[in-house]
Amino acid sequence: MRLPPPRSSRATSWASALRATLVQGVSRGVDMFDCVLPTRNARNAQVFTWSGAQLKLRNARFQRDFTPIDAACRCFACKSGATRAYLRHLFSVDEITALTLATIHNLTFIQDFMARIRASIEAGTFASFAADWSAREAATARSV
Ligand SMILES: [Zn+2]
Repeated sequence: MRLPPPRSSRATSWASALRATLVQGVSRGVDMFDCVLPTRNARNAQVFTWSGAQLKLRNARFQRDFTPIDAACRCFACKSGATRAYLRHLFSVDEITALTLATIHNLTFIQDFMARIRASIEAGTFASFAADWSAREAATARSV
């Protein structure tokens, strides 16, 4: 399944397109996905968040951001005390630990996103889950 193109290069990220594709695919009965975006984006310092935003950790605005990648994330990178500032530093000095932590985060994010989809299917609430994500993606696109 091909990813739909972002609606605009500034307001919508590939992460948003990926999530939309996952939700649309599941709604059409697809139950297996294979995608390089979580790891490729991580290697390029781009991480997903539950707010819908995709952070580019190389950006200067993270130089003194001592919060985790995503406080709502359960992954090792977010729970180990690694901050956005620390990851930015690791990326800036080409330390491979940055790639590892960002990859752990993005893969955990996608696994948890799919777990939420599965839970909504089991609960019979997938349609509202899909509508909620669509609205969240639209709101994030407007706020970027
Ligand atoms: Zn995380």
